[in-house]
Amino acid sequence: MAGQASAGKGGKTVAAEKGGRTVATKRGGKAEKYERGTRSYIMSHIRGKDTKIEVLVRRYLFARGLRFRKNDKRYPGHPDVVLPKWHAMVFVNGCFWHMHSGCPKYRLPKSNVEFWTAKLLRNHERDARQKAELEAQGWRVIVVWECELTKVRREQTLERLYRQIVDGTDDGQIQDKGGDEPR
Ligand SMILES: [Zn+2]
Repeated sequence: MAGQASAGKGGKTVAAEKGGRTVATKRGGKAEKYERGTRSYIMSHIRGKDTKIEVLVRRYLFARGLRFRKNDKRYPGHPDVVLPKWHAMVFVNGCFWHMHSGCPKYRLPKSNVEFWTAKLLRNHERDARQKAELEAQGWRVIVVWECELTKVRREQTLERLYRQIVDGTDDGQIQDKGGDEPR
């Protein structure tokens, strides 16, 4: 296990995102083509949802007795939930921002398709890269999608997540072979 990471010096993590919204690129006056309010509407809408589902997941895991760190900045992607004891990390992904393919919740906005496609593809690729990095460090990376947390599916999803965390512990080996369950 990699046990370092006590990044003590150079606290220069000045996320320019603090204020939220206007982070999107605005090159060459392109932004003017957007329908007014569209982008910020989408952003705030989805952002809000994201945080809600993260909270949902954390609350559940906590209630099941798991202890974890949240939004750990030491790791790529700042995993929503980090469970060192279980060598596991959980990302709670909004279907839109993380381009959940084949998902009914992932739909490109009607205007500025190119802008969004490029942006979301970047997100998507970054996710994949970060996942690979983390796995290379020995973490089990578990992704929970927003659409799996709708009222109807929530309970099942959270139960499955819990199982994934606590059952797949032995050195990254995931028990997919049925057979006798230890415990
Ligand atoms: Zn989805």
